[in-house]
Amino acid sequence: MSFEYEFYSVSKIKDFFKQNDANPRKKWGQNFLIDPNILNFILDSIPKEKLEKVNTVAEIGAGLGALTYKLITLNKNLILFEIDPVLIENLKQKNLPLKILEGDVLENLESLKNEKLILVGNLPYYISTDIILLALKKLPHLQFGIFMLQKEFAFRLCKEISSLSIFSLAFGEFHYLKTISENCFFPKPEATSALVSFIPNEIKFEEEKILKFEKFTKSIFWGKRKTISKSISESPFTDQSEKEMFNHFLKEIDFPITKRPEELDKKIYKELLEKI
Ligand code: SAM
Repeated sequence: MSFEYEFYSVSKIKDFFKQNDANPRKKWGQNFLIDPNILNFILDSIPKEKLEKVNTVAEIGAGLGALTYKLITLNKNLILFEIDPVLIENLKQKNLPLKILEGDVLENLESLKNEKLILVGNLPYYISTDIILLALKKLPHLQFGIFMLQKEFAFRLCKEISSLSIFSLAFGEFHYLKTISENCFFPKPEATSALVSFIPNEIKFEEEKILKFEKFTKSIFWGKRKTISKSISESPFTDQSEKEMFNHFLKEIDFPITKRPEELDKKIYKELLEKI
């Protein structure tokens, strides 16, 4: 069966909202994709070997269904997260072969914790950090992810040394795929966007190690322009015995604690993660 998407043009989207006596909701980060090339690019970026491994594909923030209609062609169990009742009703009326989890994705995402899945989304930017962190922590069987984010956030995640880019190494690695112009959306977002992919680590780390690594990354990045050793000694995220433990451990493995955290390479953090 084939399903046709009907909202590629700005005028169609405007008509839809007019007919429903509604407007695109800024508070829910509603910027709908209107460029078919980007939708095809997202679909083509999902590796075949990852698709073979999963039964489920989940989409965060389905909106009018621009991406959803592409994801249907993958012939997997398709699960959508959407909060806006007007958009949910529209999707329901189409009788598409999928399941909608209505409400806040931050409350519902964990329900997929036992699923081997691929996660996709043109994310609502106001909660994109929370969504990414939740997906990393609560979806242990995630096989692949592809997300539209604000370009600045995508840079922080993929190209810069930041608390989030380093902590995420405990789960896998984010890759910067493509910068996306504001013109690919309606309404246009305020900032330029970017697509990133997430490839999980082959070997999973135990929860205890991840918790220690989280405290470590939060601690070393909390003090702006401070050395690692100074940030750890003054960190609000650890008690005195943890500070001593971290300092002792870092000296033992010869970690460059007199440097600032952003001066070090990702490779060094990956090695530390193995040893922690
Ligand atoms: N996927 C569509 C597209 O690309 O055209 C829409 C993407 S739009 C950037 C983000 C979508 O996430 C909107 O449909 C919005 O209603 C939905 N959304 C916002 N906050 C949400 C939340 N807390 N839980 C679930 N969906 C949410």
